[in-house]
Amino acid sequence: MSEIKHPLPYASWESRGFWEGAGRGDLVLQQCRKCGLVQHRPRGLCAHCLESDNLQHFVASGKGEVYTFTVTEQNQAKGFAEACPYVMAYVTLEEGPRILTVITDCAPDEVSVGAPVSASFVAQDRDDGERFAVPVFRLD
Ligand SMILES: [Zn+2]
Repeated sequence: MSEIKHPLPYASWESRGFWEGAGRGDLVLQQCRKCGLVQHRPRGLCAHCLESDNLQHFVASGKGEVYTFTVTEQNQAKGFAEACPYVMAYVTLEEGPRILTVITDCAPDEVSVGAPVSASFVAQDRDDGERFAVPVFRLD
């Protein structure tokens, strides 16, 4: 088992704040100033009130708990095949949203539903001047 070699993230105008935050070691979420909804994935408008003028980005705690997970035993995709088995999970963040991620630096049988986790960030080597990272989670 080795680390996943994540595909290089592409930042759209909607996701740039998320990827730039991850590059700094921050988990960045969006919150609507009108209705209070905290959302992930990044969007150009609030998923509840469908307005775009009141969205703000903020640095989240990076803390959460495993909502559900699976141990991926086979994946032929480039960058993932060598990492099998790895734990793919939905993590419920303290701020509310769920994020699809991987749980790293543990044996798959150490992961359980409800386990507390914290974000860490895998920096991406790239030559276009962007400094992005991919958020992953570790057991606390
Ligand atoms: Zn809203």
